[in-house]
Amino acid sequence: MSILADQHIHSHHSGDSDESMERIADSAIAAGLKYLCFTEHMDFDYPPVDDPELTPDTFILDADPYKAEYLRIRDRYAGRIELMLGTEIGMQPHVAIENRDFCRSLEPDLVVASIHVVKRRDPYYPSFYEGRSEEEAVAETLEETLENIRLFEDFDVLGHMDYIIRYLPSRRKTVDMSAFSPVVDEILKLLIRRGQGLDLNTAPLTRGFPHMHPSHYILERYRDLGGRVITFGSDAHKCENVASCFDTAEKEARDCGFEEYCVFRSRKPEFIRF
Ligand SMILES: [Zn+2]
Ligand SMILES: [Zn+2]
Repeated sequence: MSILADQHIHSHHSGDSDESMERIADSAIAAGLKYLCFTEHMDFDYPPVDDPELTPDTFILDADPYKAEYLRIRDRYAGRIELMLGTEIGMQPHVAIENRDFCRSLEPDLVVASIHVVKRRDPYYPSFYEGRSEEEAVAETLEETLENIRLFEDFDVLGHMDYIIRYLPSRRKTVDMSAFSPVVDEILKLLIRRGQGLDLNTAPLTRGFPHMHPSHYILERYRDLGGRVITFGSDAHKCENVASCFDTAEKEARDCGFEEYCVFRSRKPEFIRF
């Protein structure tokens, strides 16, 4: 494996993980990584859902203790692995200003911007798909992604684009994303114009899907349109999934024409060859 950086990771500072930062860092060292970026969830105004595990505050990041623990761990691991501070910010149109202010105040190395909520509903839950086709749900999610990145610019990579594929009620494993090429192109062109990239997210590979997020069509299209900024992330919420399926991810990125990936420090990319 030649990818040396996992830049999408959740520790106990995220509302849906219990994992310690040390165990994650130890796993990253064992996997041969040189860089690791924690990207804890921050979803302002996550809507009420029919799930006893979740409250509207579940995905609110308490930035001060997060940053304090990060700084301690970073220093303790210096010389063994370089640890970065990041966040995965949940986009919704009405929280664009809060997201911008939060990202500036955190002073992170990397901001991953993701869509976890579409028009006040989470595509994770079956109710999102009621009364419409899966294609309509995918189209709405992509349109909402475009709307969000028009309103919120202060991020570095778009998180797990096309992650809705993972939750479709039919449980199919693939969707022909070329069927949505106009909106996909608009999203990718806007990212490229701003120098922003894609989070290549291996969580679906870990769960038995034949592709990462984004899937092949989108990744190749990003490259063909001139995109060069990619990061790799396992989206691990447990230490055993750190750097999961990175060999497959690297092969996929190479197949799409990429020869380099990025590591972010203080919001600036360094390009590293495979
Ligand atoms: Zn996410
Ligand atoms: Zn994540």
